Amino acid sequence: MNAKIKLIKTDITKLHVNAIVNAANSSLRGGGGVDGAIHRAAGRQLLNECKTLNGCATGDAKITAAYKLPANYVIHAVGPVWHGGKYGEADKLRSAYRRSLEIAVENNLKTIAFPNISTGVYGFPKKQAAEIAITTVSDFLSENEQIEQVIFAVFDDENLQIYNELLRS
Ligand code: ADP
Repeated sequence: MNAKIKLIKTDITKLHVNAIVNAANSSLRGGGGVDGAIHRAAGRQLLNECKTLNGCATGDAKITAAYKLPANYVIHAVGPVWHGGKYGEADKLRSAYRRSLEIAVENNLKTIAFPNISTGVYGFPKKQAAEIAITTVSDFLSENEQIEQVIFAVFDDENLQIYNELLRS
């Protein structure tokens, strides 16, 4: 495992990192799951800033302040809805992770935490999503020196087990 990668089972809203990534939807108007938790913890100002961004395409990401969160920024990444796997879902998920990391670098950030994008309501198979997340992050870290720590913030035991196994191998 890359020494810069860390796996933690946690509520991502509690993390003191430069940026937490939100599994947002393309409206950026908030939602359920981790998106709802982040908006609740950050406060109404987060939604107000998100409303100025004109949404976000699937596979892309946008950055905002983090308001009441302990993190410094929120990077809102839009993963794909799973439609069976033949609609570019894997590429879009890869892109959501990659764009988040690029935006972190553009903003001189060093520590970033990801939730398991698309694996909740969006229905992406968890193991495949974890493989994409780990590969994309590992490739990025080998190309780019600036990011010092990437945390995979898992929330459920199934993802914890999947990430543990993949990161060990
Ligand atoms: P999506 O719509 O992209 O599938 P969800 O929020 O439904 O997003 O789920 C993405 C992942 O976030 C799921 O693995 C879910 O268990 C996890 N999750 C939900 N709440 C939190 C939280 N507070 N911190 C970290 N992860 C969370």
